[in-house]
Amino acid sequence: MDYGPAPESATEALAWIADRPVIGHFINGRFTAPEGETVEVVNPATDAVLTRVGLGTATEVDAAVQAARAAFPKWAALPGHDRARYLYALARHVQKRERFFSVLETLDNGKTIRESRDIDVPLVARHFYHHAGWAELMADDFPGHTALGVCGQIIPWNFPLLMLAWKVAPALAAGNTVVLKPADLTPLTAYAFAEICAEIGLPPGVLNIVNGDGATGALIAGHEGVAKVAFTGSTEVGRVIRRQIAGSGKKLSLELGGKSPFIVFEDADLDAAVEGVVDAIWFNQGEVCCAGSRLLVQEGIAPRFFDRLRKRMETLRGGDPLDKTMDVGALVSRKQLARINGLLAQAEAEGATLHRAPAQMPAQGAFCAPGFLTGTAPAHTVSQTEIFGPIATTLTFRTPDEAITLANDTRYGLAASVWSQNIDRAIEIAAKVKAGVVWINATNIFDAGAPFGGFRESGYGREGGRAGMREYLTAPARPGKPRPDPAPLSGVAPHAGKADRPSIDVTAKLYIGGKQARADGGQSYTVTGKGGVALGQAALANRKDVRNAVEAAGKAGGWGGVTAHNRAQVLYFLAENLSQRAEEFTAALAACGTPKPAEEVAATLRRAFWYAAQADKFDGTVTATKSNHVTLTVNEPFGTMGLIAPDEAPLLGLMSLILPAIAMGNRVVAVASQSHPLLATRLYQVLETSDIPGGVVNLLTGTRDELAKTLAEHDDVAALWYCGSASGVAMVETASAGNLKPVWTDQGLTRDWLDPAQGQGRDFLHRAVQVKTIWLPYGA
Ligand code: NDP
Repeated sequence: MDYGPAPESATEALAWIADRPVIGHFINGRFTAPEGETVEVVNPATDAVLTRVGLGTATEVDAAVQAARAAFPKWAALPGHDRARYLYALARHVQKRERFFSVLETLDNGKTIRESRDIDVPLVARHFYHHAGWAELMADDFPGHTALGVCGQIIPWNFPLLMLAWKVAPALAAGNTVVLKPADLTPLTAYAFAEICAEIGLPPGVLNIVNGDGATGALIAGHEGVAKVAFTGSTEVGRVIRRQIAGSGKKLSLELGGKSPFIVFEDADLDAAVEGVVDAIWFNQGEVCCAGSRLLVQEGIAPRFFDRLRKRMETLRGGDPLDKTMDVGALVSRKQLARINGLLAQAEAEGATLHRAPAQMPAQGAFCAPGFLTGTAPAHTVSQTEIFGPIATTLTFRTPDEAITLANDTRYGLAASVWSQNIDRAIEIAAKVKAGVVWINATNIFDAGAPFGGFRESGYGREGGRAGMREYLTAPARPGKPRPDPAPLSGVAPHAGKADRPSIDVTAKLYIGGKQARADGGQSYTVTGKGGVALGQAALANRKDVRNAVEAAGKAGGWGGVTAHNRAQVLYFLAENLSQRAEEFTAALAACGTPKPAEEVAATLRRAFWYAAQADKFDGTVTATKSNHVTLTVNEPFGTMGLIAPDEAPLLGLMSLILPAIAMGNRVVAVASQSHPLLATRLYQVLETSDIPGGVVNLLTGTRDELAKTLAEHDDVAALWYCGSASGVAMVETASAGNLKPVWTDQGLTRDWLDPAQGQGRDFLHRAVQVKTIWLPYGA
């Protein structure tokens, strides 16, 4: 039996396009003709030119940002219920025009109508409904939190309208205003969406759309009127944006590339797993950031599994994306096709074999037959690089441990899919794989209530659910003074004194791997206290010491696996030991000129108790998403964190960073206050007697920003907190672009660490974890 053609009519969408020979911008509630260059918008399935789109200029970007700024105060001040009504209206209007939007998306992007109609557009409506709910609940669920201001949002071409919804819905719900740039390859559905905004009477300036290419995107990200940048696209551009806005105070969320493992165990339901591959890598022509693009198959079933895949490929139909019977449509552009073909040629040159679906793909248009590669090795380019097309690589494994090693052998960490009928094994793998989203016996399922986002070089920040809302809100404002750059070190000299010798000769060491360690360079510096009195000497750590400390932290990975109850006990014990030496610490704080030494010690003890209490209570959630699915959001530690302590509260400031980080299961390399490091060195004995395993807390003293830079650049440091000066903030944010670690700074402003509202709280805990979303389907 063969299929007859079943084309969806494009008449309405084509007429809409014909009426718009040039797509301009939507600024301050008005559709404006582009003042600069325009480029063609092409249907990639036919090569036909649909229309042209303007490339937004600096003047147009500025006009959009000014409009968004002007609209912000009123929009942010609206009761949540009023904003909810606008979002609800947007959802309803998208729903009413589902067919039109689906066809328009398919014409513009090349994806099949089945996908745009059954997945993209319904999810768009779902996002606006869900976030109408968050707008309604803002005051209850995020008390004291406020919107950020103007959000600059830059989206890619693979899910044009859906990415708009993921970005715009939470931003508007929280009370922000938006300047959004669609990809220049796919501007049509965003423009049609702007027409809905005008129709429902969304206040002018609340959502602005400036079309354009990367240069326009850079203008938006760099505009001084923008308070937050949200970007989805390639890791390379994510890095460019991270560096571009370093030190600007802008909040940043990045949803970047992936090379997600699809792990099939011998005990998997193989038929289901084969169907899983169809959804993992051939869905949307593989142009999916979380595509299951690396098939890891247990050795015993690999030949059988690949045979079944080949058989399944025989039934795939590729061609006209508007035909409702098609499984595979066109890629977004011929440029993307050439890029993929280049990678495939390289794979074959490296010894891989390409297995292609026999489907006859049209000669006209950007079509790429689906397939998979065998004979790929972990080091091959295609095993490490995002192909972003309908071709999976394959590797085999013998044991679950090997599967984990292979799964995590990537710089990315966006998603993973695990196939096994053994629930124990599946959950164990889900826990061990380094990815922001894990699907068990499923793949590529999304919901507005389930946070989505990556670990490692797949970016940071989440989209969807409560975690997604946090990206568009700011905690209650706190006063603070600009923190000065620390004075240059004085009295730097080769280390001479002994650790146990009193007075000026006391030369403290570093604390690495649970032991006191001499500084690699053998140097120390003089520490002065109140009235310039010399108090002693501190070790001057260098890059080698940072590397040693990070290595020691790396070896203490067991800390993340101990029970939260154990971590809580260790923190209580730490507080107990500190309390026995309270007088000594009070005296030391007084000597260095802290205004309220006894209060600082007492607050440190209370803080240890508070985080001990949180260790087994700051939990994830179970979210209602789709029927027959349990969706878990789990708070996972980052691994090794770098912490740069403030000068203004040498003991409490340092401990206010260490405690939440280790309570959540991280190991830390902490740099003590440069001006008052001796408080930290006194902690060594407390730590040694407190059951904290060696390597969980490592303490360094020395030149703050030199050590901070090394930590920011270090690939094995997964997150960084920096409490230094404004120039230091810019420096660490720039240096963090290498492995794209999340950096949390207090913008170079001091805190009143004694005040629990400023120096303690759930915000610290949120910053100490990354959310992993695990999907578990159930039922036959
Ligand atoms: P990009 O990262 O270049 O594009 C994503 C968006 O960013 C587009 O709107 C683009 O504009 C814009 N942009 C480009 N440069 C800048 C800049 N310097 N500042 C601000 N915005 C910028 O991805 P590509 O389209 O070039 O695709 C290349 C590869 O990236 C793909 O093959 C795939 O591997 C990966 N990718 C990953 C995506 C994901 O979802 N994770 C999505 C898209 C691509 P414009 O396109 O108009 O020039």
